[in-house]
Amino acid sequence: MQNNSHRGIIFNIQRFAIHDGPGIRTTVFFKGCPLRCWWCHNPESHKILPEKFDGCNLRRGFDQSFSMEKDEIGKEISVDELVNEIVKDRMFFDESSGGATFSGGEPLMQPEFLIESLKECKSNGVHSVVDTCGYASSEIINEVAPYTDLFLYDLKLMNDDDHEKYTGVSNQVTLKNLVSLDQLGKKIIIRNPIVPDITNTNENLFALRGFISDLKNVMEIDLLPFHRVGEGKYTKYDKENKMGDVESPESASLENTKQFFSELNCKVKIGG
Ligand code: SF4
Repeated sequence: MQNNSHRGIIFNIQRFAIHDGPGIRTTVFFKGCPLRCWWCHNPESHKILPEKFDGCNLRRGFDQSFSMEKDEIGKEISVDELVNEIVKDRMFFDESSGGATFSGGEPLMQPEFLIESLKECKSNGVHSVVDTCGYASSEIINEVAPYTDLFLYDLKLMNDDDHEKYTGVSNQVTLKNLVSLDQLGKKIIIRNPIVPDITNTNENLFALRGFISDLKNVMEIDLLPFHRVGEGKYTKYDKENKMGDVESPESASLENTKQFFSELNCKVKIGG
């Protein structure tokens, strides 16, 4: 491996992940996200810089050699160090057609670090997935695309006012970048968070299905049910939780939504 000193900030490396793309994957969680989705399960990812909290145990899932201080979220790491960690799992990738997934937070918020990591994965023969909300400049999208084998692309709300209300930003950039990736012929899995009364409304689902039906390279739609497991994190990390008493969607409602999207000619899954 050549010497690559680009550095980035991540807050976890999850080995043996099976919901972040095909096969067995090593998922790298980048720190920083430009959105503030009300239902976010990883509020500790939002700020790009490492943060200190009292009394958290964050070593779980993180390789020993890269464990952070007990009360710290986020650690600086070089591309070489990161890719060295990823290729340790090559045997599992080879056996399962897996690879590395770059997630977050939002990986496109650290574009140089991401692009160099993707290039190194490519030169090491490691399949790469970028899990993104698509909120980045078209220049970044165009630079990342050639080195990415598959995009897990979040589509949340088609009504722009609702998108701005529930995520903090307009959806125009996200929609435009998705169309660009589709036109580039990139493989895409759409991920739609199913949040009762917010994203899981008739109006939104019809609009989503209409938009997706015009795309040519969507191979799968994953419906990601809102759940309250992230709730404790809001208290633990002293973040505002706007979800109140919203419950997880019922399985009958999820099945109906799955059925609804099945009319598109691609696989539809509940969960990642
Ligand atoms: S895009 Fe993802 S990481 Fe960012 S706030 Fe929304 S749910 Fe959280």
